[in-house]
Amino acid sequence: MSYDNIETALIHGGISTDERTGAVNVPIYQTSTYKQDGLGKMRGYEYSRTGNPTREALEALIAQLEGGVAGFAFGSGMAATTAVLSLFNAGDRILISNNVYGGTFRVLDKVFNHFGITYSISDTENPEVFKTQITPDVKAVFLESPANPLMTVTDIRAVAEIAHEKGLLVIVDNTFMTPYLQRPIELGADIVVHSATKYLGGHSDVVAGLAVATTDDLAKKLAFIQNSTGGVLPPFDSFLLIRGIKTLGVRLDRHVENAEKAARFLADYPAVKQVYYPGLPTDKGYEINRRQAKNGGAMISFELRENYDIKRFFKSLKLVTLAESLGGVESLVCHPSTMTHASIPEEIRKKVGITDGLIRLSVGIENIDDILADLKQAIDAAEVK
Ligand SMILES: *Cc1c(COP(=O)(O)O)cnc(C)c1O
Repeated sequence: MSYDNIETALIHGGISTDERTGAVNVPIYQTSTYKQDGLGKMRGYEYSRTGNPTREALEALIAQLEGGVAGFAFGSGMAATTAVLSLFNAGDRILISNNVYGGTFRVLDKVFNHFGITYSISDTENPEVFKTQITPDVKAVFLESPANPLMTVTDIRAVAEIAHEKGLLVIVDNTFMTPYLQRPIELGADIVVHSATKYLGGHSDVVAGLAVATTDDLAKKLAFIQNSTGGVLPPFDSFLLIRGIKTLGVRLDRHVENAEKAARFLADYPAVKQVYYPGLPTDKGYEINRRQAKNGGAMISFELRENYDIKRFFKSLKLVTLAESLGGVESLVCHPSTMTHASIPEEIRKKVGITDGLIRLSVGIENIDDILADLKQAIDAAEVK
């Protein structure tokens, strides 16, 4: 069923009930294969790499939430991105936004280059500059907004207009926002990808990826790639994601409420040199983000002043956990230059502003006073006197 209000669609969208039994949750069809009633007589399923009812329910749900024609579920965000990049041919070039998930950079730099697919780092934040970077071999732009880890905002509509004039596909990694906060397809994206490991799953208990196509032609090609390369999401993990997505709205409301308070606290705290959060009116991406998204999300990056030792900061945290990943109910913190973005060479990191002092915070849904108290005591403990 389709619903106009996303809070309802999160819970009832896609295929949300079981026709046969009326079960209010989609059953976990833990099967690899399906009985055929005669040669060539299938009941809609033949083999679970090709199709599985639990995975299909998730795929229908994400397609509906993002406003596309078809969804595809994969074993990780990187498997989803890899399937999407497999649409291209040797000789094609992809422009990627200059702040992009480290793994996206790595798969292009170290894997797709073997197949003759190249990339250039593009200043998508600046549509006029982006326009000049479109050489005849460029076939797509792949962007994140807000982008990881400096939360830089790209005007998705402006970039999509320029890209479409030049015949490029627009691919948006919507992991940081989710369709609850931002719907890239309405802004002109042709394909949306997700690391569903993050907010969509929401509990740091499943690794998964999703892709959504906006045309039947792209959907057909992605279905072919998904079945041919085989990185599909298992039935149990598909069930966990459907379950996670049901509470996305209430979780994100609290994540964002806490993040806005945490960003204000950090911006006002004398030990903090710089805060990157598009939900702060003083942030350079604030205006554009406000036009295209519901709010600034719940990811914040910040830098401490020079007389603070960040190793000591990380070691002093008691509640906020030092870990890769983001988007779970618990607050997590990471050090992009040695963790999530370590696969990006140092000179490129420096060029785009990922300094060794940068700290990335995924604000959880714990009591905000507890989160702020922990940040405060860890920052204070990090001061070099
Ligand atoms: C984590 C992440 C990915 C990769 O997803 P996995 O599920 O870890 O493979 C891609 N893009 C963004 C923005 C991410 O945060």
